[in-house]
Amino acid sequence: MRAEAPLLEVHDLSVSFRSRGRYIPIVEKVSFSVGSREILGIVGESGSGKSVTAMAIMGLIDAPDVKITGSARFRGQELVGLPQKAFRHLRGRDIAMIFQDPMTAFTPVYTIGWQIDEQIRAHEALSKTGARARTVQLLGDMGVPDPERTANRYPHQLSGGLRQRAMIAMALSCNPVMLIADEPTTALDVTVQAQILDLLRNLRHNYGSSVLLITHDMGVVAETCDNVMVLYSGRVAERGPGEAIFAQPAHPYTAALLDSIPPLTGPRPARLPSIAGSPPAPLERPSGCAFAPRCHYAHESCVMLPPLISYGSQDVACVLPVEGRPLPPRVVADVA
Ligand code: SF4
Repeated sequence: MRAEAPLLEVHDLSVSFRSRGRYIPIVEKVSFSVGSREILGIVGESGSGKSVTAMAIMGLIDAPDVKITGSARFRGQELVGLPQKAFRHLRGRDIAMIFQDPMTAFTPVYTIGWQIDEQIRAHEALSKTGARARTVQLLGDMGVPDPERTANRYPHQLSGGLRQRAMIAMALSCNPVMLIADEPTTALDVTVQAQILDLLRNLRHNYGSSVLLITHDMGVVAETCDNVMVLYSGRVAERGPGEAIFAQPAHPYTAALLDSIPPLTGPRPARLPSIAGSPPAPLERPSGCAFAPRCHYAHESCVMLPPLISYGSQDVACVLPVEGRPLPPRVVADVA
């Protein structure tokens, strides 16, 4: 039986911004794929290149001072270098995006319903009444109470959680096969966050959509994603099935991110371990492993840029597995 081709295949994608007469790489040779109905989590700290990767794929970085190379094929169609006119047909209809702050994504002067109706009518030959019926149904599907009335409200009249549900409804309005969710729960309190994650998890069953979930929160990834890609300073640190990565992270950065998740059960630690320091600015990125200044396992070999190698079902950019050195043990936090 032939395996199904991935929906999105990204190969060696690099994004550089010109500054002071030279191009500074922000994202470097990032490769990954997303299959049908898969949820892939892209995780990393601020500045790791997660959002830039997503925006490059969506054709949202279109400026003369930006150079995008490599390949991103969506259903076999090359997106790198695709003219904006072609992107306009694709965005919203085939790939849609959910942003962190729906307040800035919605226009404040139109009602939520009007904006979703317009999105539907931009891609489909539906009457105003037909579009509104779909809008109301989508809002209801997303758990918005009294969807007919809510459709006539302005963004500022809704709570953060309702706005995010409305944003997801708008993203789903044309049945896209892929949804890119950029930090969709960061601005929400934990209860609403859990409800939105539930919603995202169910999209593949209810709408057949794949999801690219961008987050800095390993807890969110653990609850939601099938596969995980960890980015550090614009490069892939580790990628693989979520289950394998959570059971045995192969990169010290992944291990440190996992150690900083509060345990759901058992005694509460007095203090969660944190990663000292911060990621290097793109102009100050070391030529070897960019994580070396913060890594407890750094040694002389780390001055070379570690290639991405296979380690079981994972791919990891670290010299430890190659050298047969022990992988980072999980830290057990001090218990109060
Ligand atoms: Fe740490 Fe070296 Fe691995 Fe980088 S290559 S993560 S510095 S052990």
